Amino acid sequence: MRQSPDEFLPPELALRVEALNNAPQRAGADYVLVWLQQSLRGDDHPVIDAASVLANRLGLPVLVYHGLRCDYPYASARLSRFILGASAAMGRSLRSRGIACRQFVQQGPDHGRGLVYRLASKAAAVFVDQHFTFVPATQPGSFAGRAGVAVYAVDAARVVPVRALPARVGTTAAFRRAHSTLRHDWLAMRCPIQPEQRTVPANLPGELVELADHDETALDRLVAGLPIDQTLGSVAEHPATAEAASARLAGVDAQFVRQYSAKRTNPALAEGTSRLSPYLRFGMIAPWQVMARVEALDVTASQRYKFYDELLTWREWSHWRAWRNPEIHRYAHLAAWARETLDAHRADPREPVLSLAEIMHARTPDRVWNAAQAQWLLTGWMHNNLRMYWSKGLLRWAPDPETAWAWGCYINDRVSIDGRDPATYVSMRWGFGDARPAWKETPVYGRLMRASTAAMMKRDGVADFVDHWTARLLPEIDLASFDREYYV
Ligand SMILES: Cc1cc2nc3c(=O)[nH]c(=O)nc-3n(C[C@H](O)[C@H](O)[C@H](O)COP(=O)(O)OP(=O)(O)OC[C@H]3O[C@@H](n4cnc5c(N)ncnc54)[C@H](O)[C@@H]3O)c2cc1C
Repeated sequence: MRQSPDEFLPPELALRVEALNNAPQRAGADYVLVWLQQSLRGDDHPVIDAASVLANRLGLPVLVYHGLRCDYPYASARLSRFILGASAAMGRSLRSRGIACRQFVQQGPDHGRGLVYRLASKAAAVFVDQHFTFVPATQPGSFAGRAGVAVYAVDAARVVPVRALPARVGTTAAFRRAHSTLRHDWLAMRCPIQPEQRTVPANLPGELVELADHDETALDRLVAGLPIDQTLGSVAEHPATAEAASARLAGVDAQFVRQYSAKRTNPALAEGTSRLSPYLRFGMIAPWQVMARVEALDVTASQRYKFYDELLTWREWSHWRAWRNPEIHRYAHLAAWARETLDAHRADPREPVLSLAEIMHARTPDRVWNAAQAQWLLTGWMHNNLRMYWSKGLLRWAPDPETAWAWGCYINDRVSIDGRDPATYVSMRWGFGDARPAWKETPVYGRLMRASTAAMMKRDGVADFVDHWTARLLPEIDLASFDREYYV
């Protein structure tokens, strides 16, 4: 019979956990399996905590598993290098805690066939991290249907688990109110759990590796040999190392928080924002670790308000919306008024129509837009204000609004280290009508707000920023993976 999470977990952890099937826990198992999708961190991890509680109860070790497939959508040297760096750092952190961690790096189509099912066949139960967009939104569910053992999904990417929030919050303001009353309680409830020291059996599948033993050069070599998109290269600006993640977190100091609301809108200021998003996206840092750090700073509630509003309200509101709407990445799910007004202007002349290749390689008539795209293409990260400007620009050059949306999501998902996230689609929706309508109807945009180039150029340093990024040589990116239908 199925064991529900509240039968074996403390209440604050049980609320983070959802049983994904009706299968029972297995007796006589070798370990409790943690299969991580994207929350790649070795410490302070609710998925590992939940597995540890069960493992301690059953007298079993915990085995943490993470796999990287070369046929994963948009698998590129950029994303694979970041993911493997995060996974290796996680392996080292788990090793220091005495927890076994094994990885799998797929080298070709048949390599490692059925591996996670083979691992699950020796497990008392499987715990996965829960996400609401892209592959991790559906993969654990289909796995649970065939695993033949209890599978539990753990909400490990948000301070306040989605199920702890009211079921109906219709606006950002309502979400902000609900979340604000819960976030400090959930921060206080975080209580990492250590599994008892037990050894996993030696006869694990031969395809498994221990990335903890790989240094940065070995990871570079491993990625260079994979049959994945190598046109989109790895980036030096956001290293996936424990040291880089700690340095980003340390950058959130009292001065940063006090100046955040004044500096965050200028893309020319390299440290006006935290640049934490790649590390949050892959779980190298948990949002409550950022919150705990801010709580310890000498800042007032009003000084930290704006930073919390982005990190806690906007980020977790995006996640909540993606949880409620699994089709949030689709044009068809944009606001009806926005689709209607864009449809009414479908035949308006564009400025001019460009191809996806011209867009991807920053060959538009707008130098600010090109600078933004170049920064994204070359570094895998773009400033929020530029992303806002960038998303609006797509409508000027795409043949129709659906294609503009699909290009935007595709480039974001493919190029940005933090892409494929609820914040990706919810933020893109801002550019496509999830905002106040314009007071005046304009060509192409209808009642959607346009972005102002003049306003962007007025900010200190933006002219130099544009010169810098438009002068850079861009790599030629293979665009064969574009699938318009996925986003429409
Ligand atoms: C068109 C468009 C596309 C975007 N795509 C993504 C994406 O793919 N992935 C992504 O994580 N964010 C995305 N954002 C939101 C935002 O731009 C980035 O989170 C932010 O720029 C990351 O930089 P930072 O870490 O320095 O943020 P900071 O300003 O330092 O904020 C701290 C954290 O709060 C969160 N956050 C900040 N702004 C937002 C926001 N508007 N919505 C939701 N969460 C936010 C992020 O996790 C961020 O790391 C997008 C925004 C737009 C307008």
